[in-house]
Amino acid sequence: MRVLIYIIVIFQFLVAQQFDESHLKCSHSKTAKAMMVNYRVPTIAQGDYDVTYYDIDLKIDPVTETISGKVGIKGTSLVSSLGIVELDLYSDLNVKSVKNEQGDGLNYTHSSNLLSVTLNNPVSNGNNFNIVIDYDGKPPSTGFGSFTFSQHGGEPMIWSLSEPYGARDWWPCKDTPNDKADSVDISLEVPTGIIAASNGKLVDTEVNGDWTTYHWQERYPIATYLVSVAIHPYKFFLDWYKYSPTDSMRLEYYVFPDHFDAVQNNYSLTKDMICAFADRFGEYPFTNEKYGHAEFTWGGGMEHQTLTSLGGYSEGLIVHELAHQWWGDMVTCANFHHIWLNEGFATYSEALWYEIRDNDIQSLHQTMSYKRYTGSGTIYVEDTTSIGRIFHGGLSYAKASWVLHMLRHIVGDSTFFNGLQEYGDRYRFKSAVTEQFRDVMEEVSRKDLDAFFERWIYGELYPIYEVVYSQSDSNLLVQINQTQDSDIFKMPIDIKANFSDGSEVNWIVENSIREELFELLIPDNKTIQDLQIDPNNWILKKISGIRRDTLGNGIIPDKFYLYPVYPNPFNAGVTIRFAIENEGEVQLNIFDISGNRIWHQSARFTAGNHLINWDGKNSFGIKVPSGTYFVEASNGTLIKTKKMLLLK
Ligand SMILES: [Zn+2]
Repeated sequence: MRVLIYIIVIFQFLVAQQFDESHLKCSHSKTAKAMMVNYRVPTIAQGDYDVTYYDIDLKIDPVTETISGKVGIKGTSLVSSLGIVELDLYSDLNVKSVKNEQGDGLNYTHSSNLLSVTLNNPVSNGNNFNIVIDYDGKPPSTGFGSFTFSQHGGEPMIWSLSEPYGARDWWPCKDTPNDKADSVDISLEVPTGIIAASNGKLVDTEVNGDWTTYHWQERYPIATYLVSVAIHPYKFFLDWYKYSPTDSMRLEYYVFPDHFDAVQNNYSLTKDMICAFADRFGEYPFTNEKYGHAEFTWGGGMEHQTLTSLGGYSEGLIVHELAHQWWGDMVTCANFHHIWLNEGFATYSEALWYEIRDNDIQSLHQTMSYKRYTGSGTIYVEDTTSIGRIFHGGLSYAKASWVLHMLRHIVGDSTFFNGLQEYGDRYRFKSAVTEQFRDVMEEVSRKDLDAFFERWIYGELYPIYEVVYSQSDSNLLVQINQTQDSDIFKMPIDIKANFSDGSEVNWIVENSIREELFELLIPDNKTIQDLQIDPNNWILKKISGIRRDTLGNGIIPDKFYLYPVYPNPFNAGVTIRFAIENEGEVQLNIFDISGNRIWHQSARFTAGNHLINWDGKNSFGIKVPSGTYFVEASNGTLIKTKKMLLLK
């Protein structure tokens, strides 16, 4: 077991190394813990009620490394007769009693990390229950524990990190991100001299001899995994985020005394980062309370609501965890299949920050180039029992950030950020899944994004493009083939031509089939010098080749193809060009606007490109009048048509 864990940790580390400092983010190293957690999805019975409030009141003893206290839970019945309240709670914690509001003892069972409480009187739909659980014990210590007694500088350092399934390791709760409590009280009794930091506002500190109680109130809805403690004789300092001419919010920093000087530079960036994200995502979600950092002894960061836990103080780590206050905390993935809605967003936000900080889009592209992930697997997490898979650095973080990057280019900057704000507004203090995000972006952009999300979130890998192009007069022909083994990607692709006179032109083509030929119009008889596909790297892709070909012997499409005629409009005559993939008979017909066939020709042709000139005369050799005509080419099975205009 030990060796296996070691290998996995090293592997994760190596994988993560490719992605900047993503290996420091959030719950990456929790892989090893995945092997020890007795994970269980929410039970069916847990769907019978909605939690509205938790009152967590714990004494935390660093000497015995135990916790003891009470957790009160209020909830609302969602069924006609709620008789049993099922809660998640680590089996080795010792439940001493469960009581109702009146103080009556309630029957319960506690096994397999499930605490099942029988209410004395069943609660009907829409009515409330209120229970209090008295318990004590040692949370599981796995080395990656969700509640850990450690030390820093010879002093106690006690911290929690409950994502994804660890809240139950230290307090009884309905441990699923799609049932947020409307508010939580957190009272932490610790030895006097030690600071206990948590979510929301510190409303009271009560010294009682050797013990001091810190009473925190979180009055915004919060998911169980975001409830946290960070306990140490911290050195505290305060900064302010000014969010209106008259309003400011506290920025509370709980740092290890020996790090006090070291954290200053990057911590001081925090308010600028909040400003930057407020501008892009909407105002910081928890302005009535605070934002802050509490250092802890885990090698990463964790976006605990209003008080991020930090195991380092790099700019990238600080900005990533801050972005989670919007994406993860304000809007939370409804379950861990959709963790990319937390981690992909926070990872993309790192790149957004560098773009804003430098006022330079190249900083965005540069950051995204570090986050390319081309390995297999889907961003959607099939197996949520694997914590290593949930927090896969390549898929849930890096590639997921590319999904947002690509989406931004498809819908355009203002639509993208409007869409993010609308998504934030609609699911504010709630939870969401991929399809809900997709629907918001579709509404705001008025684009069908179904294929995009389906392919990138539920599909694997990335497109590999092979490109051949040629110019004939004012026509640019670009053949784009997707050569990857996996399914095709339907994506808009930027094409940029550089001309011999130093000018350039950009087009966007909608690539929707595996082998597709695009005809583009070149202005002013310019001559192409070279062609670039997706020159600014808005698509996670590879280009296996891009080459130029001359007409006639060049592009032989692997299908029958009729090119646009040229010139068009025409006067004296027009050139009709087609390609066939195999030698065979081709029939050409020209119709007038009324559908009358006025000219035709039929012959056998070799594989490749062919040119036929039409002099504007009908089959009787008579000049036809000005107007719209259609040329139709048929190889016996396929018919292709192009429109042309004769002007006299
Ligand atoms: Zn994260």
